[in-house]
Amino acid sequence: MKVRAAVLERTGASLEVVSLDLAPPGPAEVLVRLEASGVCHSDFNAVDGTAETRCPAVLGHEGAGVVEAIGPGVTRVVVGDHVALSWAPSCGMCGECLRDLPQLCSTAWPAMETGGLMDGTTRLSRDGEPVFHYSFLSTFAEACVVPEKSCVPIPKDVPFDVAGLVGCAVTTGVGAVWRTAGVRPGDRVAIIGCGGVGLSALMAALAVGAEPVIAVDAAPAKLETARSFGASEGVLWAGSAEATAEAIREVSGGGVDYAIEATGRPEAMAAAFLATRARGAAVLIGIPRADATLTLPALSIPRMERRVLGSIYGSSRPERDFGTTLALYRSGRLPLDRLVSHRLSLDEVGRGFELMRSGDALRVVLDLNT
Ligand SMILES: [Zn+2]
Ligand SMILES: [Zn+2]
Repeated sequence: MKVRAAVLERTGASLEVVSLDLAPPGPAEVLVRLEASGVCHSDFNAVDGTAETRCPAVLGHEGAGVVEAIGPGVTRVVVGDHVALSWAPSCGMCGECLRDLPQLCSTAWPAMETGGLMDGTTRLSRDGEPVFHYSFLSTFAEACVVPEKSCVPIPKDVPFDVAGLVGCAVTTGVGAVWRTAGVRPGDRVAIIGCGGVGLSALMAALAVGAEPVIAVDAAPAKLETARSFGASEGVLWAGSAEATAEAIREVSGGGVDYAIEATGRPEAMAAAFLATRARGAAVLIGIPRADATLTLPALSIPRMERRVLGSIYGSSRPERDFGTTLALYRSGRLPLDRLVSHRLSLDEVGRGFELMRSGDALRVVLDLNT
């Protein structure tokens, strides 16, 4: 079939919406008609070369839609199911999966880097030449063929834009709080970086009864937004890791149990660490450049039992956690729809990147059913 899709021809180019060929789903694969896709910073990392990506590629990895066809052997979904898409389709059999770490699956990550699906081949092409997938999904398109394990069925009353965000930003933020950190009622939490991921972490911390929940950002407007989501305090970035950490320590009563870092900047990561109290942990979710390094005061690690926890995809198990998150959304305890600040068409994807980079958007969602 033919699909319209936003293609990155090479690093540094702008996305172009073109018509491509999409092959039918193979064994353990599913054809999904896409309804919505969030625009994520990771997509932009592929555009500007922060993360090396095989091109030409259809970007987008934060989507939801309706199952239109299934390949041989598919058992998890049927035609007509509404699905949120996971970019971490774990194999269930490798050493990491057996250690209950599906987010680190040692089969899926190398396969993702090929730009193909799990078998390393693509379903997208143009004039017989392969066009690569991005994170198994390629959701900046009218439809996509994805691994069966990327498909998580969702209730039919969940809006597709919310379901799409649960596929990346929301799960990254919420999971960091609930799964990686395991925040408990009364824990003091700071969120550094109040974009879509940080606000998701903030909502998750509030939902489990963390107190206080301190928002930290370099933009006053983002702090205002965080307060409107329920943050108890706002701390403006103070120009250095030390000064910012000091401000967080002051408003938290001596340091936080968990400082969630969602910017990927080493100075913000250092601030997160320095803002922790004894036995506290910096939880690092922002993706830094590949060559970035982090310097920390070593003595306080044994002396105060301070910790650094890495978190990818919120240490989540999508087939379990998407449902939990959406159940709390439906009951009103996670107001995820408030993250959607802009709705654009596929043709406006370039404007979506501009809005994201300007800081004017919480989350831009492409409406793909137009
Ligand atoms: Zn993402
Ligand atoms: Zn695995």
